[in-house]
Amino acid sequence: MAEPDFYLSDEQRELQRTLREFVAKEITPIAAKYDTEERYPVELFSKLGELGYLGLRFPEEIGGSGGSNLDYAILCEELAFGSAGIALGVYVHVALACAALEAFGSESLKKEWLPPALRGERIGAWAFAEAGAGSDAGSVATRAVVDGDSYVINGSKLFITNGPIADFIIVVASTAPEQRLKGLSLFLVEHDRPGFRVASVLSKLGVRASEMAELVFEDCRVPRENLIGRQDRGFLDALRTLTLGRIASAAFATGVARAAFEATLAHAEERVQFGQPIGSFQAVRFGIADMAVQIEAARLLCHRAAIVADRGLTHGREANMAKLFATEACTKIVERALHYHGAAGFMSESPIQRFYRDCKVFELGEGSSELQRDMIARELGL
Ligand SMILES: Cc1cc2nc3c(=O)[nH]c(=O)nc-3n(C[C@H](O)[C@H](O)[C@H](O)COP(=O)(O)OP(=O)(O)OC[C@H]3O[C@@H](n4cnc5c(N)ncnc54)[C@H](O)[C@@H]3O)c2cc1C
Repeated sequence: MAEPDFYLSDEQRELQRTLREFVAKEITPIAAKYDTEERYPVELFSKLGELGYLGLRFPEEIGGSGGSNLDYAILCEELAFGSAGIALGVYVHVALACAALEAFGSESLKKEWLPPALRGERIGAWAFAEAGAGSDAGSVATRAVVDGDSYVINGSKLFITNGPIADFIIVVASTAPEQRLKGLSLFLVEHDRPGFRVASVLSKLGVRASEMAELVFEDCRVPRENLIGRQDRGFLDALRTLTLGRIASAAFATGVARAAFEATLAHAEERVQFGQPIGSFQAVRFGIADMAVQIEAARLLCHRAAIVADRGLTHGREANMAKLFATEACTKIVERALHYHGAAGFMSESPIQRFYRDCKVFELGEGSSELQRDMIARELGL
């Protein structure tokens, strides 16, 4: 049988191998603890930074480690295999906060923030969502108004991952409300800026090892240099440029699905009922075979999107398809995993119940399944 990852280079196989070792040693053993405590293992950031994982895809001149979108997809799958919550915290820091700063920030902001951020010494957050703005980004109500050589920001942000632990936040605020989506700009706000506060820490169903907050900005004055990218167009530019989110979501979903699958395969061999392992019953065998097929298909779609992106080609359609398929497959696979584990999987100490709580979020974030289908249909000319 052909290797499923025959298209990976030797370096990418090595990356995958070392990441698997790292995750087995540093993440899997602590995943349940941080999930229960709803706390992020902040010290992991510097470990990931030291090994160059946070710097993947960033230029070496600013402290990055280079590499491709495919390398990044490999990283996301492996981190999520260990803990979806921990992977989410890394993702928001790297693929949203640091990536926006690198793509659009001024040279002085980049110089000040990126090297320590890529070493894992400074943590970033991405604050777009609000009580009234989710799928409809044009509804952002947080305002930034020019006043002399500053912008004054007022408003609040909801559901912000890394909010409680972030040193810097990339905030999406409206600079031209009448233009809705075409009037949104990005700002870097430091956590100790007067007028900024973490209003509350939010508790959630899944990905609980990532920390989430509601953030408030009250006459929060930031210097003009903290504008990231073009005024009024920063958010649209970011949407066009930071396209990795859907590929990362597909990779996360593949990682969680694989963790659920591997546990189920082992359980099906070990668990004996009616005098035989449950894996010998056709109904269970067929279900597990379907899981394996769906995981391979999810990974292939995800890696295809990453490879197309690495070739510098338009990859929106590939990324939408990968995200839609992988995230919905993950939810189905984890549901089956729980089913085949029976009561044992339902218990708090089982990782299966954690996967069950974690998986749903991937269908919602980075554009829900409905939005993915809508974009795919549009690509098809409908
Ligand atoms: C764990 C987690 C972490 C998050 N982290 C961050 C973060 O770090 N930063 C940040 O800014 N935000 C974050 N978010 C928020 C995220 O951006 C929003 O959840 C997302 O934008 C969707 O918005 P919403 O949840 O308000 O859902 P809504 O937009 O209210 O959607 C609700 C339902 O309506 C459907 N729907 C909406 N519009 C349409 C349409 N046009 N056609 C068909 N169906 C539609 C959706 O598919 C969905 O099923 C996070 C959310 C979660 C759950």
